[in-house]
Amino acid sequence: MTKNRQKSIWVFGDYRNYYQNRVTLQLIARAVDLAKIINAEVCALIFGYEIDEWIMEYTAHGADRILAIDDPALRSYSTERYLAIIEKLVKQRDPEVILIGATDFGREFAPRLAKRLQTGLSADCVGLGISEDGLLIQTAPSFGGNMLAEIVTEQHRPQMATVRPGTFKEIPHDNNKKAIVERIPLMKGLPKPRVRLVEYERSVEKEHTIENASVIVCGGRGMGNKEKFKKLQELARLLGGDVGATRPVVYAGWADHGALVGQAGKHIKPKILFSFGISGAIQHTAGLGEADFIIAVNKNPQATMMKMADVAIAGDASDVLNNLIKELKKRIRE
Ligand SMILES: Cc1cc2nc3c(=O)[nH]c(=O)nc-3n(C[C@H](O)[C@H](O)[C@H](O)COP(=O)(O)OP(=O)(O)OC[C@H]3O[C@@H](n4cnc5c(N)ncnc54)[C@H](O)[C@@H]3O)c2cc1C
Repeated sequence: MTKNRQKSIWVFGDYRNYYQNRVTLQLIARAVDLAKIINAEVCALIFGYEIDEWIMEYTAHGADRILAIDDPALRSYSTERYLAIIEKLVKQRDPEVILIGATDFGREFAPRLAKRLQTGLSADCVGLGISEDGLLIQTAPSFGGNMLAEIVTEQHRPQMATVRPGTFKEIPHDNNKKAIVERIPLMKGLPKPRVRLVEYERSVEKEHTIENASVIVCGGRGMGNKEKFKKLQELARLLGGDVGATRPVVYAGWADHGALVGQAGKHIKPKILFSFGISGAIQHTAGLGEADFIIAVNKNPQATMMKMADVAIAGDASDVLNNLIKELKKRIRE
């Protein structure tokens, strides 16, 4: 390893998941922050066929360099091929860090890649930072999610992490941004895929994508029952937002799993977050790191959620909710 080489943070371009979540853009944004600290460049990897729109997208969202392989042989994803390609590129270019979205896809291939590269991998991270000695701090839930561990990879390179969608905010799209685009020919001798894609069909099940909502109305056990919880939908609709939930609520069947906010669920970043009847357990608040403004309603003024809030309303959740809905409807009519 030469001393003066340009350090690089690589972000795997998981564009096949783009419409479910924008984790690659979020990772590029975080990589830009981290790269400033360790004086590195941010490099996005894009493999596939007819990928120019992704080259433009990742450039507009902050990547300094794009490593692109555009070839019909990569039209569909193949674990073996992707692994072989990245392994070769890593051996040639020696990146400091590789970040991968913790999507179904990233969760499948990241551990295999780490094994091949004989390095560590922190899975499902909910935070990334840089230590005083320039190492990547990978914050990941541990001990069944009861604690957050800060992990560093001291000896091996690259430092690798998969990161939950919604953990970071993307940099707004800017068409004036420029990146160095390296178009690399497909390497020879890649393994034949062992799995052949016969057909591809997007799931018709409606994706619950609260990660991108700018207003979220979140409800907890303090809502009392399913009927009262359903009322949160009405407030969310009036404000053009979406509904989030705590784990007891999801377990009780008042909300679907896609609405779960927290360590075991979504990381949200709304401009305004309403929190009705939620105590503020760490596993829940772990998902609220990026909410701009929090309005909490709880009958217990000492609840953690009330202390975290910008506006805390002590009272019965359903009473406050019904009054808010009434007032909003009145104003809409006026
Ligand atoms: C490994 C692990 C992972 C977890 N992951 C998550 C996760 O991702 N997300 C998550 O949310 N939880 C998670 N949990 C659960 C978490 O620890 C808490 O149990 C949960 O967040 C509590 O939900 P809650 O606030 O709705 O309920 P409670 O803690 O029971 O709080 C209810 C609140 O409602 C208030 N209240 C009651 N009645 C009223 C009323 N009439 N009007 C107004 N306020 C009222 C109470 O004062 C109280 O503050 C996890 C736990 C573990 C162990």
